[in-house]
Amino acid sequence: MKTSCEIIKDILPLYCDGICSEETQKLVEEHIAACPSCAVLLEKLRVDCHSVNTQSQLKETDMFRKASEKWKKSIWRAFCKGAAAIAAIAVLATTGHYGLCEVNIIHAAPDLVDSISYEIEGDPNNIAVVLNTNDGYFNGTIVSETDKDGNIYLSIARPIIKEKNRAGDNLQIIYTVNIENKSAVYYGTPEDSKLLWDTNSDLPEITYKEISKLHENTSIHE
Ligand SMILES: [Zn+2]
Repeated sequence: MKTSCEIIKDILPLYCDGICSEETQKLVEEHIAACPSCAVLLEKLRVDCHSVNTQSQLKETDMFRKASEKWKKSIWRAFCKGAAAIAAIAVLATTGHYGLCEVNIIHAAPDLVDSISYEIEGDPNNIAVVLNTNDGYFNGTIVSETDKDGNIYLSIARPIIKEKNRAGDNLQIIYTVNIENKSAVYYGTPEDSKLLWDTNSDLPEITYKEISKLHENTSIHE
């Protein structure tokens, strides 16, 4: 008997977390091999899983440990002419994910953020945006707000107690945005923003696999 897509959809999160039995695993793999729509769903889940992992890695002790390591290094760097740290952290955050830094946030201004937007192959409901900041700070999280006209405004929020004097550090964020029934996606605020997508946009394509790769390549490194 062929397993229905509904059953597979229920099991996919467990499969993605690697916590289902071998038999179930086989069942999912057989289904995925023959069902493109569930395969797309799995790729999407994998990206989300990875993002959650990246997010939890950033939490509390780890984040502060890394921040203080980097802080120490950047002091040395201040003495070394021409040495620049490039740190990139991929953070895919939903509201509630920035509890750690919710007091005293500031937003990275649109003119300090480079962006590339992509259509996602096989998924007309989401787009992917890659945001690169160059204001010298490496930590932050995405905040998303939607107005009544279906315009989404994304911004990168930083805690005010971010590490200053971190010249050369950059942040790269890969973010998928649900554009179902939406009019446009902007980076910034209604007063100061740049367009990332609207219904007339003809964006380059990216696959969920490629998005996963980008996530892998943007964990903290120098
Ligand atoms: Zn299916």
